Amino acid sequence: MTEIRTPSERECTRCQRHERWSDEDEQWRIDGDEAGDVHCVHDWDVTGTFTTVPGDAPDHEA
Ligand SMILES: [Zn+2]
Repeated sequence: MTEIRTPSERECTRCQRHERWSDEDEQWRIDGDEAGDVHCVHDWDVTGTFTTVPGDAPDHEA
């Protein structure tokens, strides 16, 4: 069985916005009260280690 490890948390290095991945909603949600700068071009510093899968583009429709 191949387990794909994906980041579950990320933080913007510019505005300190902190998000956590929601498996239920399948989208990033703001973690905590700090939403950061809505005009920020977020530069995510992903927490933890993970392996990216080449070819596993999010816009790929099976
Ligand atoms: Zn930001």
